[in-house]
Amino acid sequence: MTVPELGISGQLKLKASKVLVIGAGGLGCPSLMYLVGCGIGTIGIVDHDIVDISNLHRQVLHSTETVGMLKCDSAKKALNKLNPNVEIVTHPVAIANDNIFKIMENYDLVLDCTDTPATRYLINDAAVLLGKTIVSGSGLKTECQLSILNFENQGPCYRCFYPTPPPPNSVTSCSDGGVIGSVIGLMGVMMATEAIKVLTNFYTSDNFKPFLSLYSAYGPQQGLRTFKMRGRSPKCCICNRETRSINKELIESGALNYSVFCGKVNYNILSQEERIDVMQLNDLISKNNENLETPLIIDVRTKEQFDIISLSNSINIPLPKLTKIKTLEELKGAYKSDSRVNDKTNYYVIC
Ligand code: ZN
Repeated sequence: MTVPELGISGQLKLKASKVLVIGAGGLGCPSLMYLVGCGIGTIGIVDHDIVDISNLHRQVLHSTETVGMLKCDSAKKALNKLNPNVEIVTHPVAIANDNIFKIMENYDLVLDCTDTPATRYLINDAAVLLGKTIVSGSGLKTECQLSILNFENQGPCYRCFYPTPPPPNSVTSCSDGGVIGSVIGLMGVMMATEAIKVLTNFYTSDNFKPFLSLYSAYGPQQGLRTFKMRGRSPKCCICNRETRSINKELIESGALNYSVFCGKVNYNILSQEERIDVMQLNDLISKNNENLETPLIIDVRTKEQFDIISLSNSINIPLPKLTKIKTLEELKGAYKSDSRVNDKTNYYVIC
């Protein structure tokens, strides 16, 4: 109340606000702590996932005690202790075409703390159609980013920035690619700050300029950079009323399928004859003792994953490196010092 940017009127606006946080993970947890701490009136949490021990380094509302509990219940438990005067509403469902409008319509502002493109497009489309502003954050490994979308229904929206989804094979989640907890935590805290600024009318339709803030913890451009972004795309298929081709019926009926739109990774690229299962491989390894052939496993995961755990008869050639090796001769040449690589070697690939 004593901060001039807020004052008592700002504090009262926070108290009267209803905020929806979608995702109680690495971004949602730190955001929620500060939103609850600052005295937002009502906070909704959407998450259908349960707390896993591998979440705890970044999802700071959860603890070893709440492993196995629904994330939204675990979050509510911690948040009630922090500030019992905030009403916490839990939505233990996967946000989907058929429930998003009913959930989102009850709130003033949406925080997108999710991690898949399909969900981001869905949240964007529903928020635009309901006229809600989105504070959007994301992060992976050592970097994270933040933006405000559809501010006061003037755009730009997520589709203005990304009209087409990224190739599915290029999308990595925090659980697959890893993330430094404090990096994603910083972005979650910044999302709470931006939410406070939106709710207390620091931003107005006159002074708001679209932006994207990017934080890099490592690398030559480490630190926080903020880029000005273009306004609403004239061709946007959702936030431009004239060119709009998406509506509520299209979403709720399921006619617009976000996972089809974003594509799925195709794992089914080898025929059955080209595959081998664990037991078959084990037989081959046993045969190795009779010196019939030498099975050598090429593990194409990252070095970091290989260092954590690997099979004893395997070598690590991360996929980007392996795809540069064009012939078997080249492969043998590169690994000729390895006694397991010889003319009798048969190669198997694992990922
Ligand atoms: Zn748009």
